[in-house]
Amino acid sequence: MSAQKVKPKVAFFDFASCEGCQLTVVDALQTHLDLLDAVEIVNFREASSERREDYEIAFVEGSITRPYDEERIKRIREQAKVLIALGACAHTGCVNAMKNLLPPDEVRRYVYGDCAEWYDTYAARPLSAVVKVDVEIPGCPIDKEEFVEVVKALLVGKKPPIPDYPVCVECKLKGNVCIFHVGGICLGPVTRAGCGAICPTYGDGCEGCRGLIPHPNENAMEEVLDEVGLTLDDIMHYFTMFNAYREVEDGKWAQR
Ligand code: SF4
Ligand code: SF4
Ligand code: SF4
Repeated sequence: MSAQKVKPKVAFFDFASCEGCQLTVVDALQTHLDLLDAVEIVNFREASSERREDYEIAFVEGSITRPYDEERIKRIREQAKVLIALGACAHTGCVNAMKNLLPPDEVRRYVYGDCAEWYDTYAARPLSAVVKVDVEIPGCPIDKEEFVEVVKALLVGKKPPIPDYPVCVECKLKGNVCIFHVGGICLGPVTRAGCGAICPTYGDGCEGCRGLIPHPNENAMEEVLDEVGLTLDDIMHYFTMFNAYREVEDGKWAQR
């Protein structure tokens, strides 16, 4: 009788998010059945009724926006040997962090009206602001094939293949006409590649959903935008769609 293979126990959790990244995972698992065979999914609210707490690898979607979230992500961190931020909400704070640009009481009153005091939400944060994160899978939503490649790398103990070069590299390889040359705006020069430059390929400027590359030359980017006649407000608008958390933390929003 052959010994039964011990499979890593995997769990999926969500915080403030639209759950689109988890849906992408469900989609990926339907077309990569080999992954389902390689791991044991013990907790995945969106896809399974299993609710075990003995997981080793935790994929976590969403931003931290409440004191309860903070307690919960710390418990997940204590249990998981490897914790992976799944998608932009978990990685950068994503669109959730746009509320950080305004006073929290004002935001709560706008959303919840007379019941604002019932809700203890605070500024949205990426997971890494609260706990140690081992791997970040960028994107809003994540790229299905990139998710699969990250899981495969984790299973064989390799560094997950997340690019650290800008979207422009992929865009130029595709032979696209640069959006700046047709009067548009694009954050491709400072945004992490890996999406195949999908937005510029279909005629839209990159809005930075995959977060900034390490050590981005943001000032050079602003100079480029100035050259094409854009204001600082325009620039900030594009930087804050997906990267408001960083703008506020770096003090750039306050300096406007
Ligand atoms: S990163 Fe985008 S797709 Fe994923 S959960 Fe957040 S808002 Fe939804
Ligand atoms: S369209 Fe955007 S991503 Fe493509 S080359 Fe121009 S600035 Fe870079
Ligand atoms: S081009 Fe930019 S906004 Fe579009 S998917 Fe890629 S990183 Fe996200």
